Amino acid sequence: VKKSGRGGYALFTREMEMQSLERILMENELRKAIELEQFHIHYQPKISFFREEINGMEALVRWQHPELGLISPERFIPLAEDNGFIIQLGEWVMRRSCAQNKKWQQQGLPFLRVSVNVSVKQLMEPDFVTKVETILMETGLESCWLEIEVTESTFVDVDDATSILEEIRSLGIRISIDDFGTGYSSFSYLKQLPVDTLKIDRSFIEDIDTNEESKAIVKAVLTIAETLGMDVIAEGVETREQLAVLHEDGCSQAQGFLFSKPLTEDEFEVYLRNSQRY
Ligand code: C2E
Ligand code: CA
Ligand code: CA
Ligand code: CA
Repeated sequence: VKKSGRGGYALFTREMEMQSLERILMENELRKAIELEQFHIHYQPKISFFREEINGMEALVRWQHPELGLISPERFIPLAEDNGFIIQLGEWVMRRSCAQNKKWQQQGLPFLRVSVNVSVKQLMEPDFVTKVETILMETGLESCWLEIEVTESTFVDVDDATSILEEIRSLGIRISIDDFGTGYSSFSYLKQLPVDTLKIDRSFIEDIDTNEESKAIVKAVLTIAETLGMDVIAEGVETREQLAVLHEDGCSQAQGFLFSKPLTEDEFEVYLRNSQRY
């Protein structure tokens, strides 16, 4: 609020009212959305630099509401995390993307790993590991074709998270740390966490070709990862310039609009068929 006094205050509360109204509306709609088939998954290719070939994909949920339109996950995921709906939604996304991946494999398309975002709330559910096992069994997808992406900065208890991640990993599922570098404690937990891949946050990639600090951080992550035997992937690569710096620094994987935006199931299938020439 810029101006003090009644006018400013009224504006403030009206805005808050609208926000909570929108929230209530969205919460109600959110709960019905699975049944109404309003959620869709988009897939964004992960690219290996060597021959610029696809070597994986990230599943990203979309909410298409008949009146509210296309709602960004940035808006409804935090809401779903607050009200617990993320547990159902996260399970739906995992089942759906494992089934879709299996389907593509059966159609003779190149075998790829699908990465699914998992919220800490979902991860910490007592039956999370059992649910994942069930999904793999029901969809028939081999565990090596699934990866989960978790954001370390959201862990409440790192020891608890570690033991769950260890169970997940012992099933043969890969683990990736999302938004790496944004948490306060990123580096100190790396020794402890069972991790396959560090995913460098987009904020460092954004200005990697113009900002020395970002470049230095990315270099440090690459060095640490190499020492610890982890892979690194850069997220949000949009330009050739960014790619050139990453390449020079020895990063070997990336994801971003430069290669492809997230695609619908149908679009992704076309993309995969066209990439078979590699
Ligand atoms: P994230 O996991 O960090 O996903 C990357 C986000 O960056 C995606 O946004 C993606 O569309 C976007 N992106 C990819 N390449 C580029 C690029 O080159 N430039 C820019 N500017 N953006 C790029 P999206 O799909 O809107 O998802 C936002 C966030 O919502 C995700 O961030 C993730 O935290 C969350 N999310 C999405 N789907 C799920 C899900 O199924 N479960 C959970 N728990 N969270 C999800
Ligand atoms: Ca992610
Ligand atoms: Ca990310
Ligand atoms: Ca993010």
